[in-house]
Amino acid sequence: GKLHDVLIIGGGAAGQSVAGSLLRRQPGLDIAIVEPRSEHYYQPGWTLVGGGVFERAETMRRMVDVMPREVHWYQAAASAFTPEQRQVVLEDGEKIGYRILVVAPGLTLDWDAIPGLRETLGRNGVTSNYLFDLAPYTWELVQNTRKGRAIFTQPAMPIKCAGAPQKAMYLSCDHWNRKGWLNNLDVEFCTAGAALFGVADYVPALQEYVGKYGINVNFQNNLIKVDGDARTAVFRVTDGEGNTSEVEKTFDMLHVCPPQRAPKFISESPLADAAGWIDLNPETLQHARYGDIFGLGDAGNTPNAKTAAAVRKQAPVVAENVLLALKGEAPKAIYDGYGSCPLTVERGKIVLAEFGYGGKLQPSFPSWLVEGTRPSRFAWLLKEKMLPWIYWNAMLKGHEWMAGPEILAHRPADHEVGEACDFGG
Ligand code: FAD
Repeated sequence: GKLHDVLIIGGGAAGQSVAGSLLRRQPGLDIAIVEPRSEHYYQPGWTLVGGGVFERAETMRRMVDVMPREVHWYQAAASAFTPEQRQVVLEDGEKIGYRILVVAPGLTLDWDAIPGLRETLGRNGVTSNYLFDLAPYTWELVQNTRKGRAIFTQPAMPIKCAGAPQKAMYLSCDHWNRKGWLNNLDVEFCTAGAALFGVADYVPALQEYVGKYGINVNFQNNLIKVDGDARTAVFRVTDGEGNTSEVEKTFDMLHVCPPQRAPKFISESPLADAAGWIDLNPETLQHARYGDIFGLGDAGNTPNAKTAAAVRKQAPVVAENVLLALKGEAPKAIYDGYGSCPLTVERGKIVLAEFGYGGKLQPSFPSWLVEGTRPSRFAWLLKEKMLPWIYWNAMLKGHEWMAGPEILAHRPADHEVGEACDFGG
C-alpha cells in the first residue's frame, strides 16, 4: 500500500501551515495531505465580507494554488483511523500508511441541531457569517434593514472565533448608526453564555459599545428553533436558579452562529477525548496516547481560542516536534496557548484580544502601538490590510519568523515533555 513519512489530514489553515513549516525545515520531505475540497478559505475574512469591507472572492483560493507542489494530494475525505496499523482509511476504502500522522480537519458546523434553520439559511432575513456563501447576504440584510428587530445569536462554547457573533453585530450596528436607523431598530444579542467575552479584561470595552449601540444583551439564551416563513426564533432561557423556559421572538434579521462540534470521523475514532475532540498534549500537541500522531487547529481539544491566530503559533511547534519524532526523539517545542480574536467594534476600530492558556494576556505589540483592551485603529489596519497577506504569504508558506521566539525559548535541551515514538514494530 501507500506509505508517507508524514500524512496530514485536512488542507485548511492548520494542515497547509504545518506542510509549509515542515518543507521550510526539511525540503524534500515526503508529505501527503488528505483534503476533499477544491477551495481553500480564509475564514477570518468573512466578518469583513458581512460588514461590507471585503468581497467574498478575496477570501478564497483554489486548493491547487495553496497546496505545495512537493506534497502528494489525495483529494478525498478521511473516514477512519487504525492507529495500531499506522493507517488512515479514506471514504472509498483506500488505506494510506504513515510514519507520522498530523490530524487537522477543523470542526463541524451543526446547522441541523436547530430545527428549521437549514431550510431558511439565506432567506427570510436569516444569515450567518460562518458560511462563505452567506456572508454577502449579511451585508445585504444590513443595508436593507431599517427598522424592526435584529437578533444575533451565539451558541454554547467551544466555537471557532468566539468573538465572531459579536463582530457581526457591532459592524451591523455601526452601519445602522451612521445611517441614522439605529433608533428604529431593536438589536438583541442572545448568547448561550453568561458573559460578553470569556476573558474579563476585554469586557469593559465591549460593554461600552453595547451601551453606545443600545444593544439588549440576553445571557443564557440558547437558540433552539427557527421558523423562517413566520420570522420567529425560539430560545431556551436559563435563569439564575437554573430553571429553563422557552421564549419566542420575532425578527426582521437573524444572524446565527451555529453550534459546533468535532467532525464525526474524529469523535467516533480512537483519537477522540470524551467530548469528541482530538486528545492532545496541550504543550507539545502530540496525541495523548499515540506518540506518532499530532494534531492542531479547531479539531483539537487544547483549551485555546479556536482561531487561525492559534494555528499560526501551533503549526511550527507541530513541525518541530514531527521532525524530532521522525528521528525517534521526544517532542521539545512548546505551544503556550496563544490565540487572538480581533473584535471589530466599529468600522475602523478593533479591540485586539490576544491571550493564551488560562486567559493570560499575550499582546504582540507594545502598548503605545496597540492597547489590547481598548479599541484601536492600528489593529483595524492589521486585520484589513496586513493579516490576509500574512496568512497567504507567510503562515501557509511556513516562514521561519512566524514561529516567533517563544517556541525555542521554552525549549531547554533537557526538557522532555512527551514520549519518543518507537518505529520498531
Ligand atoms: P479549517 O481552516 O476549517 O480547515 C479544515 C480543513 O479540513 C478543510 O479544508 C476541510 O475541507 C478539511 N476536512 C474536513 N473534513 C475532512 C476529512 N474527513 N478528511 C480530510 N480533510 C477534511 N480566526 C482568527 O484567527 N481570527 C479571526 O478573526 C477569525 N474570524 C473568524 C470568523 C469566522 C466567521 C469564522 C468562521 C472563523 C474565524 N476564525 C478566525 C477561525 C479560523 O478560521 C479557524 O480557527 C481556522 O480556519 C482553523 O483552521 P483548521 O485548519 O483547524 O480548520
